[in-house]
Amino acid sequence: MANTEHQDFDVVVVGCGVAGLSAAVAAADAGARVAVVERSTYEERGGNTRYTAASMRMKSENEVSDDFESFLVRYSGYHIQPDFVAATALDYENWPSNVRTLPFTDPELISFFVDSVPPAVAWLKQHGVKFGGIGFYGLTPRPTPRIAVSGGGLQIIEAMTAYAEQKGVRFFYELTAQDLLLSEDGSVAGLKATQKNSQPLMLHGGAVVLACGGFEGNTEMVIRYLGSKGRYLRPVARGGYYNKGEGIAMALRAGAAPAGDYAGYHAQPIDPRSSATEAIVMAFPYGVLVNRDGQRFVDEAPGSIDAHYEETTLTIAEQKQGIAFCILDDKINRIENWKRCVRSDRPPETAPDVVTLGKKLGFDGAAASRTIAAFNQACRPGNFDPKILDGLATENLTPRKSNYAVPLDTPPFHAYPMISSNTFTFGGLKVNTNAQVVSQSGDAMPGLYAAGETVGIYYGRYPGATSVLRGAVFGRRAGEHAAQRCASARARAG
Ligand SMILES: Cc1cc2nc3c(=O)[nH]c(=O)nc-3n(C[C@H](O)[C@H](O)[C@H](O)COP(=O)(O)OP(=O)(O)OC[C@H]3O[C@@H](n4cnc5c(N)ncnc54)[C@H](O)[C@@H]3O)c2cc1C
Repeated sequence: MANTEHQDFDVVVVGCGVAGLSAAVAAADAGARVAVVERSTYEERGGNTRYTAASMRMKSENEVSDDFESFLVRYSGYHIQPDFVAATALDYENWPSNVRTLPFTDPELISFFVDSVPPAVAWLKQHGVKFGGIGFYGLTPRPTPRIAVSGGGLQIIEAMTAYAEQKGVRFFYELTAQDLLLSEDGSVAGLKATQKNSQPLMLHGGAVVLACGGFEGNTEMVIRYLGSKGRYLRPVARGGYYNKGEGIAMALRAGAAPAGDYAGYHAQPIDPRSSATEAIVMAFPYGVLVNRDGQRFVDEAPGSIDAHYEETTLTIAEQKQGIAFCILDDKINRIENWKRCVRSDRPPETAPDVVTLGKKLGFDGAAASRTIAAFNQACRPGNFDPKILDGLATENLTPRKSNYAVPLDTPPFHAYPMISSNTFTFGGLKVNTNAQVVSQSGDAMPGLYAAGETVGIYYGRYPGATSVLRGAVFGRRAGEHAAQRCASARARAG
């Protein structure tokens, strides 16, 4: 058997999405010798970050949106015991260990995240990332403002990789992190990884940053945590398939506290026939959604698409075989730019009647025709206007449709199949404001850091356009603190 290879660094970073690259660059800037371990090839590197538009919930480069903090607070956990919440008014050092390990996003962490966003944007710019405008799939105006990286996440990957390489960061592609190396005193001493040929490679270092995504690419974990509906979910883009949860699993094995909603994920409605990145179908507010039995199951237009698509998509995942069908009539073609709502590269199925559509796509078309007849009966006269929330609602129909309720009576009919994608999972690791992983005993685990999707901060609802920022903020902090830790250890050793 070949000898196991060993290499020495200060900081070992797992993953080269926005979180990993931010950690690597921050650590290298602070003088650390840095290794980045990445499971994919060079060409496919960057996980979800590679495919994101990288929109950011901000009014400008200097200011987060008004609801950024309140959204995080509102969805920071469930039914937390009031005296535990009260204890967070003390200094963090005085929090009881059960409070430090609670599965909720504590006020310290939320404030740190929010306050760190504008400086993180400025820092990304200093490292070559450029910002610009952003497109939108909705026809009504977006309720919360956004800025975006021009060229999306791919530009972050390219700019930050180039900078890191020039700073001497060593990249290992096609290398998969498997487990932590621990010293006798319990501190993290490096990483055990596996090369393409199954050969182990030990990377030694005083700190490890886990920035290797969630577990959206691991069916076993998805079903274990999200339940049987997980079998019908799939990542929204190729990058998510690389995120198989090893970072979370290895830290939990070593005693880390879990955080983030393990039963939750960020859902986007996609066309399962399409292999395109983020093949979203957001046209359903202008038609009806039926399941395989031809029944409606949700209000297709309760409010703005941006604020509600996730809830709607979660209900699609609960339907038989996790699928629904968006049925439109030919009046859709009278709406200017309606195709902006669809990023699938497949056209809708089209037929002169809904029964035929059902045969083509595999739903009960006869039942769907009856459903549409009842829906048409429940529509009331009024002005249909797709550019605003027009308030044109059904009457005496369950579930109600709250806007854009006009009869579907003009053939040909069109339909898209839709499933829920799993953009990323919410379950991850508990960290403190230094991005240090917190143990089940409430202590920072010496030498262990986490960033990006590997950190759990979301519960129930995802405040859209905050995940890239989570990667940049916690990655940067992890890299800085990890480098500092290694520098102090070197100084102590003389
Ligand atoms: C299509 C799409 C659109 C999105 N739009 C937005 C948006 O507009 N705004 C926003 O804020 N968020 C958006 N998101 C979410 C956001 O992009 C991601 O959550 C974020 O980029 C994740 O960054 P990350 O660094 O934590 O993980 P990733 O970018 O996924 O990187 C993780 C890396 O770790 C590697 N890896 C995984 N396991 C291992 C292992 N065991 N060993 C070695 N390497 C490993 C992976 O290969 C990958 O390169 C979108 C996501 C997608 C897919």
